[in-house]
This record gives sequence, C-alpha cells and structure tokens, in this order.
Amino acid sequence: MIKTDIIIIGAGPVGLFTIFEAGLMKLHCHVIDAIPQIGGQLKEIYPKKPIYDIPGFPSVLAGDLIDNLEQQVAPFQPGFTLGERAETIEKQEDGSFVVTTIEGTEHHAPTVIIAGGLGSFEPRKPIVDGLTNFEKKGIEYMVREPETFLNKKVFISGGGDSALDWAVYIAENSTVPVGLVHRSDMFRAHKDSVEKVYQLQNEGKIDLYTHAEINKVNGNETLESIELHQKNRAPKTIDVDYWLPLFGLSPKLGPIGNWGLDIEKNAIKVNHALDYETNIPGVFAVGDVNTYPGKLKLILCGFHEATLAVQTCYKIINPDKKFTMKYTTVQGVKGFEKVL
Ligand SMILES: Cc1cc2nc3c(=O)[nH]c(=O)nc-3n(C[C@H](O)[C@H](O)[C@H](O)COP(=O)(O)OP(=O)(O)OC[C@H]3O[C@@H](n4cnc5c(N)ncnc54)[C@H](O)[C@@H]3O)c2cc1C
Repeated sequence: MIKTDIIIIGAGPVGLFTIFEAGLMKLHCHVIDAIPQIGGQLKEIYPKKPIYDIPGFPSVLAGDLIDNLEQQVAPFQPGFTLGERAETIEKQEDGSFVVTTIEGTEHHAPTVIIAGGLGSFEPRKPIVDGLTNFEKKGIEYMVREPETFLNKKVFISGGGDSALDWAVYIAENSTVPVGLVHRSDMFRAHKDSVEKVYQLQNEGKIDLYTHAEINKVNGNETLESIELHQKNRAPKTIDVDYWLPLFGLSPKLGPIGNWGLDIEKNAIKVNHALDYETNIPGVFAVGDVNTYPGKLKLILCGFHEATLAVQTCYKIINPDKKFTMKYTTVQGVKGFEKVL
C-alpha cells in the first residue's frame, strides 16, 4: 500500500502543479496516471505546439512547459504510478481513502485531488476496412513526434483544428506535399488555418480533397496505400507511408464517473466558491475535469484551482495547525529529504 498525504489522479499540467503547491505546505503527493508518461494533453496531443497564455511566458512549447513543471516539482519528491488507470476509490472508517488502479496497486491518503482532464484519451476512429491492421504501422490518431512525418507520403483526414494545423505544419516543413481529405468543403478549424491551407494548396504543398473520404487501407506488414473516394470522381488508390485520421478525441471520464461524484456533462461539479471540493468531502477536482458556473478549460485556471484545493487538504491533514502563507520569495523552496 502506497501511503501519502494527497493522491493526485492525473499527471497533466494541473496535477503536476498541484505537487508544487502541496509541497510548499509540506504535503507529500503521489500521482497516478493511466498513460505511461507525465504531461496529460500537452505531451499526448500537442507537445510541439506553442502556448501563448501561460503568465510570464510569451510563448512556450507544450512539451517544454511539462519539462519545466517536472523540474519545478522535483524537490518535493513526488511518487508516481504511471501506466495504470485509477479504477476505484474507497472511503475508510477514519475518513481517508484507498484508490486502487486497474493493476491492483493500492494508494492510501487522507485526501484525493482528481486532475483527470478529459479522462482517458479515446480517439474517434473512422469506419474503414482494415483499419486496425495498420494502427501504429502507418495509421496514427495523434501526432507525437511531427518529425516522423516529414519528407514522407502523408495523408491527413479531418476538418478541425488538429487536422488542419498538422497539415500546415507538415506541408511547411516537408519536401513532399501532404494530402488533406475532408468530407465537406466547410472546415471547423480556425479561419487562419483554413486560409493557410488554401495558400499551401496554391503553392502545391497541400493536395486538398474535399467531399472526399478514405474508405479502405491496404498493405502487408505496414500501411502501403489508401483508397480515396471523392464525390463525382472514380475511386483512387494512393500510395502512402502514413495516414492520420484526426477526427478528435472523445472525452471519456472512465471509472471516475462511477465514484458517486456529482457529474454534469462529463465533468465533476465542485464548490467553486471555496476550494474545488466535490460532493465527497476530502475529494477535490481541479483542471479540465471539473465544472462550475463560468468554468474555463485553461491551464492557468487549473493552476489557480489546485492552489486553493491544497489549502483545504492541509486543514484536513493538520486539523490542529494553522498554516500561514509566505511568498516563495520569502520562504524559498524547501524540498523534502526523502520520499514519504
Ligand atoms: C490542441 C490543444 C491546444 C490547447 N491550447 C491551449 C492553450 O493555448 N492554453 C491553455 O491554457 N490551454 C490549452 N489547451 C487546453 C489544455 O491542454 C488543458 O486545459 C489542460 O491540458 C488541462 O490540464 P489537466 O491537467 O487538467 O488535464 P490533462 O492535461 O487532460 O491531463 C489529465 C491526465 O489525467 C489522466 N487520467 C484521466 N483519468 C484517469 C484515471 N482514471 N486514472 C489515471 N489517470 C487518469 C489522463 O491520462 C491525463 O494524462 C489546449 C488543448 C488542446 C487539445
């Protein structure tokens, strides 16, 4: 049984920053994440995209922000259970909690902070013959390492921000034109991205196919070709190295949805006037996973929520002590000698 002061579910930016704020209050944290790496959406979906609204950073790559957070929390020696989804939570007689993962790893703490973001990442997959044969063998639903796709024959499907942004990025950096396939000629992506796509089409860097779909994939060990069906045209087989169906991720709260928490539209309702506590005393929800009137799913809002949530965790853990907040400029960052 892993014992700590706060069990954090989710190693996204908000879960990571929670470790820092808890550490300043001398509280130890242990973080559980379903995926084998830290960073949440920033590492999983858009590690190479610049973020412009983190205070003090005119621009920071999502992946770099996570690396910085990892460095920032290191003095507080957090524990991690990675690659294991938190499945159950059980309240103990003394009011503390045991959170158990799908692998059966048990964690015990007086408080729990859920920073589960969108929940488990489930890409929306198209219905295409042979699709599963080539997943990770030429078919990818997320762009993790954009360099992989440069100077290769790449087709992207989708009409949203992710599809267009990656089509533009690859087209601008690759020597080979990128195919972009969309089932209509109306795009959901940002206007600037749509304009950029048309510009790159004129420059011969994007082959745009509207009113079109990919209906079949072929290959042996790996993907070799796709079948493109375009309205009023004969179907066409095109040789490719990669096909990226980027139809977005469907948010799935997963097991957290069965924990007896108040859920509204796939998010956990919290006491936003005070400390982001859920309807279960001692269990808090911060970042993208929570909801309250006026909620904004932004990283900086999650940081603020985490800062307030740990204040109440401190009071639960130290009912007889009073914590006096001191600026970090005054108290510095005094890390822990050893893991709890
Ligand atoms: C393309 C894109 C661009 C964006 N740009 C910006 C931007 O410019 N500025 C901005 O502020 N925000 C931006 N966002 C939003 C931002 O990414 C989110 O607000 C942020 O990731 C929320 O952080 P989080 O820690 O709450 O959750 P997440 O980053 O979603 O991390 C949650 C983690 O919890 C884990 N998890 C979930 N359920 C379980 C479970 N049961 N057990 C174990 N682990 C679990 C998941 O695996 C995940 O790693 C963008 C989002 C996208 C998709």
